[in-house]
Amino acid sequence: MEARGPAQPYADAATLPRVGDDERFMDEAIAEARAAASAGDVPVGCVVVRGGAVVGRGRNRREADRDPTAHAEVLALRDAARALGRWRLGDCALYVTIEPCAMCAGAAILARIPLVVFAAPEEKTGAVRSTVELFDDPRALHRPRWRLGARRAEVERMLAEFFAARRGPAEAEG
Ligand SMILES: [Zn+2]
Repeated sequence: MEARGPAQPYADAATLPRVGDDERFMDEAIAEARAAASAGDVPVGCVVVRGGAVVGRGRNRREADRDPTAHAEVLALRDAARALGRWRLGDCALYVTIEPCAMCAGAAILARIPLVVFAAPEEKTGAVRSTVELFDDPRALHRPRWRLGARRAEVERMLAEFFAARRGPAEAEG
C-alpha cells in the first residue's frame, strides 16, 4: 500500500475509517462501478463514508447522462452533501475504485474531505500520484490524506474485462 498526507490535522480524524475498513467500503464502490458497466459506462464507482456508514454513492454516468463531468466522485460528493444537508464534508472519507482525475481530486478538496482511498492508480489521468500530486501540494487550501491499494487486483481485472468486452480505447478516467 502507498499512502501520504499530513498527520491528523482534523478534529474528526478519530471517526474516519481505518486501513482495516478499506476492503469493506471499497466493495461498496466496486458494486457502484459494476452498475456503471452494466449501463455501458466505464466501471468507476465511489462511496462517501461517515461514522462507519455509507452516506453517498456515485458511479460514472458520463455516457448515461452525456455529461463530461458526471464522474463517480462528483456524483457521490453531491449525494453525500444532500444527505447531510451541508457542503462541508470534513468528517467523511471518499472511497473510489480508481485514482481521481484533476476535477475529482479538486472536488474532494473543495468538500474538505480528509481521507481519500482508491483501489488502483490511473497512470494517464490520476491527479493524486500519477500525473500531478494535488493532495500533497503545500499550496493547496486543504490536503486530504490518501491511501492506495485496497482491492486493487479486483478493480484492475474489472476494468480489463470491460475494455476487452468493448474492444474500445483503453481509457479509464476516474
Ligand atoms: Zn474524475
